[in-house]
Amino acid sequence: MMRTELTELGLEVQNLQKVYKSNDGSEPIVALKNLNLQVKKGSFFGLLGPNGAGKSTLINILAGLVIKTSGIVKIGSINQDINVREFKRSIGVVPQETNFDPFLTPYESLDIQAGLYGVRKSERKITQILKNLGLESKANAYMRSLSGGMRRRLLIGKALVHSPEVVILDEPTAGVDIELREMLWNYLKNLNAKGTTIILTTHYLEEAEALCERIAILNEGGLIACNDTIDLLDKVNLKVINIRYSNSHIKKVNLPKKASLKENKNKKLSISYDRNEIKTDQLLDCLRSQGVEILDLSTEEADLADVFRLLTKSN
Ligand code: ADP
Ligand code: MG
Repeated sequence: MMRTELTELGLEVQNLQKVYKSNDGSEPIVALKNLNLQVKKGSFFGLLGPNGAGKSTLINILAGLVIKTSGIVKIGSINQDINVREFKRSIGVVPQETNFDPFLTPYESLDIQAGLYGVRKSERKITQILKNLGLESKANAYMRSLSGGMRRRLLIGKALVHSPEVVILDEPTAGVDIELREMLWNYLKNLNAKGTTIILTTHYLEEAEALCERIAILNEGGLIACNDTIDLLDKVNLKVINIRYSNSHIKKVNLPKKASLKENKNKKLSISYDRNEIKTDQLLDCLRSQGVEILDLSTEEADLADVFRLLTKSN
C-alpha cells in the first residue's frame, strides 16, 4: 500500500535549476535553486511566494516555455525530457498573461488548440467546456467583445481541451472581481473533485487557504516550506498579539527574529510571533526596552498571511 502511494505523484520536480543569462553583460539571475517538489496525484496544491520568488519560472518550465538549466521534471513516470509528447499531453497550463488571436472566436480558439494536441474531432468537447465556463453565448463572438474576465476563463478552457491530468494555473484570479473569483474557485474545485491534479500560484492567501490542501512557499528560488495547509498554520505555532500603547507615537520597533510586525497605527501594535521560539514575556520585554508603554494586550490565532509574513521575513 505504501509503495503505491509513493508512486502516485501528480508532479515531481528534482533538483530543478534555472539560471537566466543576460545578453547585456550583467550578472546572471538564478531564478530556481535546486528545487525539489512532490505533488500528490489528484490533490489541490498551492504555490505561494513573493514577487520574483520563481513561481512563473517553474510554471513556464512545466509548460515548455522556459528551458530549465538542469534537473528532472516528471508526471508520474512520464519524464519531460524523455517522454516529450506524453508529458505535453498530460499537462495543461494557464499562463499569467492572456494572449489571444483577435481574429478567432472562442470556439475556434479552443478548437485549434485541441487540434494542436491531436484531439480527434469526434472527441473534442469544446461546447461543453465553453458551457462549463459560462461562455456558451460567446462561442462565436468576436474576441474583442470579450471582457477581461471572459478572456481569463477562455484561457482556462484552452488549457483543458486535451483533458490533461494535471492543470497548472499561474495566478488565475489576479485582478478578477469577487463574483468571477468565486465562479473560478467552484470550477476548479469541481475539476479537482473529478480527479484532476491542480496546482496554482496565488498572491491571495485566503485563496490558498480555501482551495489548497497542501502549500509550498517559494522564496528566492528555493522552498522555505511545504506542508499540508492545516499543518502549515500549526507548524510554527504562531500567535498574534495585539498591544495598545500609551506613547503618542512609535516610529519603529525592532523585533526579535521570529516575530514580525503586522500593523502599527492608532496606538496599536499587532505582532505575529512563533511561540516555539519566543516567549510572550521576552517579546514584551523587548518592546518595553524600546520605550513602548503597554496599556493592554490581547492575543488571537494566526492565519496563513501571518505564517507567510514570518517565513518570508528576510532577517
Ligand atoms: P514570480 O513569478 O514568483 O514573481 P519569476 O519566476 O517571474 O517570479 O521571476 C523569478 C526571477 O527570475 C526574478 O528575479 C525575475 O526577475 C527573473 N526572471 C524571470 N523571467 C526572466 C527572464 N525571461 N529573463 C531574465 N530574468 C527573468
Ligand atoms: Mg509570476
